[in-house]
Amino acid sequence: MSETPVLRMESVRKTFGGSVVLRDVDLEVAPHTVTALIGASGSGKSTLLRCANLLEEIDDGAIWLDDEEITDPRVDQDTVRRRIGVVFQAYNLFPHMTVLENITLAPRRVHGVPRAEAEARARELLERLGLGGKAGEYPDRLSGGQQQRAAIVRALAVRPRLLLLDEITAALDPELVGEVLTVVRGLKDEGMTMVLATHEMGFAREVADQVCFLEGGVVHERGTAEQVFGEPRRERTRRFLRRVV
Ligand code: ADP
Ligand code: MG
Repeated sequence: MSETPVLRMESVRKTFGGSVVLRDVDLEVAPHTVTALIGASGSGKSTLLRCANLLEEIDDGAIWLDDEEITDPRVDQDTVRRRIGVVFQAYNLFPHMTVLENITLAPRRVHGVPRAEAEARARELLERLGLGGKAGEYPDRLSGGQQQRAAIVRALAVRPRLLLLDEITAALDPELVGEVLTVVRGLKDEGMTMVLATHEMGFAREVADQVCFLEGGVVHERGTAEQVFGEPRRERTRRFLRRVV
């Protein structure tokens, strides 16, 4: 028997004001794997991630995190969100707090971790992600790449079961993209389960175990990175890849 997926979506449907943004989306994310969501702007990648984290309420279907159906109305959504780390495109560090304060906020306030322990964990993560000297800095003193790495540290600080990364390099100057992707590679090597929406096709091909091509809110094609990038089965996938690669 295969392992229970960390994340499973079944027939998920999401509408905004009558227009269907996700249609019949099925997704399974196995433990310690990376899933890349690719597709044109507006295809539904961010909405899918937001639904997975219960930031958006789905209209139909169901979502499981490990064995728990998190779309069950009886489930406490805050508890679920605490098990999922999220990093968005625009670094969302609080500007009036130091890097260390940003990172220890949720562990201390939400998870009740004692300050010393939260800070020790934060410093260890900062060190690992190459930000050892930046704990006391304010975000605006950091480069975009450093801010985004700090945002990843913040997401990791609560020891999430699953990490959702939404276009985390899209707002970065090209020379800063590499350092953030290196961090994601490292997390993969450590076995972190991740779902990432990305425009970085070369990176998706390299790092993803599973690739889902979205179009118009539908998973139009899915497979291994090798299959989807190397031998796309659907004409629309081929057309998209010709445009972006
Ligand atoms: P992607 O991340 O692939 O660019 P999105 O998930 O952001 O796609 O958007 C998918 C579609 O849903 C788009 O047509 C977008 O305009 C629409 N959409 C996303 N969020 C909202 C919202 N809060 N209200 C209305 N429409 C939305
Ligand atoms: Mg998006």
